[in-house]
Amino acid sequence: MRQLRIGDVTIDAVIERCGPWRRPQDCFSAYDEAIFRRHLPTMEPEIFDPATGLMVITYQTFVVRTPHHTILVDTCTGEDKGYPAPLDFPKQRWLGEFKAAGLTFDAIDYVFCTHLHIDHCGWNTVLRNGQWVPTFPRAKYVFHKKEYAAWEEATKQGANPPGDVWRFNCEPIVAAGQALLVDDDYTLDDTVWLSPTPGHSPCHCCVNIKSGGQRAVVTGDLMHHALQCREPDWSTIFDWDAKEAAVSRRRFLNEIADTGTFVMPIHFPNPTTGLVEADGNRFTWKFVR
Ligand SMILES: [Zn+2]
Repeated sequence: MRQLRIGDVTIDAVIERCGPWRRPQDCFSAYDEAIFRRHLPTMEPEIFDPATGLMVITYQTFVVRTPHHTILVDTCTGEDKGYPAPLDFPKQRWLGEFKAAGLTFDAIDYVFCTHLHIDHCGWNTVLRNGQWVPTFPRAKYVFHKKEYAAWEEATKQGANPPGDVWRFNCEPIVAAGQALLVDDDYTLDDTVWLSPTPGHSPCHCCVNIKSGGQRAVVTGDLMHHALQCREPDWSTIFDWDAKEAAVSRRRFLNEIADTGTFVMPIHFPNPTTGLVEADGNRFTWKFVR
């Protein structure tokens, strides 16, 4: 994605993987082929690969640089986690892009996780001498406290892979004293703050960024695909609470449609950043090019 600049803030992407990935019929329980075919010509060409019938999906981290802080939002799957295919992506691309963005692990002040799923908190930790330790030694990590507690509880119940995800990527951050366990009205400063969008996970949040009279929102997994702007009620099979996810999605889309807010979903492919327009009770996704 092209760097987004709003006011004094820049936002860049560090990509772990991208390309054709999943069939829509495998992701949406409400999937209807006729409806999908009707919407397809109204959507941006980058989001679907007609040759394979697969949706194009990216896994990435956003780097937010404000005048005061260097912030990462969501940290992909990470390295050495031992996750099974297809989530065992090669690590070199993420590390290479991180470095190419002029960053070092020491340079990160804050890590925000929109939620604590496997592909959003992986680089939180690295394996050193057999121990999971924070990757970013100076950073504070912002986790929603009830999201953290929900995955702690799931881990106690033996749920796996959430068990490993929490144990590998989240608990070591708290143990190291680097976690800020916050509520969903958390505000870092007048540039960066959270807003609640639960449903995909127990306490999923968006990360809002404002500068120079402009606003951008990292929307995590509030939407996985632009099809969900055409059909906001189509939740994915990955959602914790499909109904609540749909309510959060529609509320968000209603709020930001036609406002010029830059929307940055983690899984949308290049050029990733988009604007949302209202279209009756649906929405249209337009990439910023
Ligand atoms: Zn995700």
